[in-house]
Amino acid sequence: MKAMVDVYGCNPADIIAYIGAGICEEHYEVSEEIFESFNASLSAEGLCPCTNKHRHLNIRTTIFQQIIRAGLRFINIENVQICTYEDSGYYSFRRDGTKNRQINLIGIIDE
Ligand SMILES: [Zn+2]
Repeated sequence: MKAMVDVYGCNPADIIAYIGAGICEEHYEVSEEIFESFNASLSAEGLCPCTNKHRHLNIRTTIFQQIIRAGLRFINIENVQICTYEDSGYYSFRRDGTKNRQINLIGIIDE
């Protein structure tokens, strides 16, 4: 997001974000060390861990907070709420131990 603004001169209010499929908080349990490190990182950014379960990470809410803070408009954020662990249509290391992964793309439309 920062590069889109700093390098390409994009106006955050014009950026459209799509938060795609990813593991949900319920299925993303991590070690105590990772949990503490993740929360410390969020606190340093002034963001909320926003988790309801100890040692679980809420990546989707974290991404949402970061892009709102970056200046994107709420109406320009699409959030699909698909958990890759729960939906067999997606790869999931935690579910299957697979080495396959989803990919995400980002682009700029020059108008
Ligand atoms: Zn899930």
